[in-house]
Amino acid sequence: EPTGGSPIRVVLLGANGVGKKSFASIFAGASDGMDSEDCELYGDEVCEKTIEVDGETATIILLNTWDTEDEWALEHSMQTGDAYLLLYSITDRASFLRASELRITLRRHRPAQHTPIILVGNKCDLVRCREVSVSEGRACAAVFDCKFIETSAAMQHNVWEAFHGIVRQLRLRRDSK
Ligand code: GDP
Repeated sequence: EPTGGSPIRVVLLGANGVGKKSFASIFAGASDGMDSEDCELYGDEVCEKTIEVDGETATIILLNTWDTEDEWALEHSMQTGDAYLLLYSITDRASFLRASELRITLRRHRPAQHTPIILVGNKCDLVRCREVSVSEGRACAAVFDCKFIETSAAMQHNVWEAFHGIVRQLRLRRDSK
């Protein structure tokens, strides 16, 4: 397969204020070394971009579920994604609990073995305000059978790693078919 194949629809999920918009704007920016032209914006909510991961290109369409309290929007996003970044803020335990709830709802729609999910503990730059430890995050991901990463959108730390992780997981699934 010469190119990355069909676009991957990645959905950002998480409580308000955890950093979804910040993730989307880093994704939309040119900070991954590829041209910003590669990002086509369709309104505020959708951004398409081709990135290179391990020497192979992949096209990601990023969908942001702005309002996870909106039942319809949430149901819709759970049906449209190929992969999910499930965000919480390490400074906000309520957002961590919300991520667990969202994971449970997601599991009803998507069997884990087909849909990559990464639990993302964002705002890891705010060390003094930490409410959720790294080991709690890791343990939660293990229970929910998904990958785990801590990020800082503010420091642009590990944000691209999260997207690359999604691509790698999809390739593993593709290659094991
Ligand atoms: P959303 O509601 O999930 O889309 O969250 P936003 O992306 O709007 O972020 C909410 C607030 O948290 C904003 O003021 C961001 O600047 C801030 N923020 C987002 N990510 C980080 C981070 O990694 N570190 C810090 N310190 N602030 C962040």
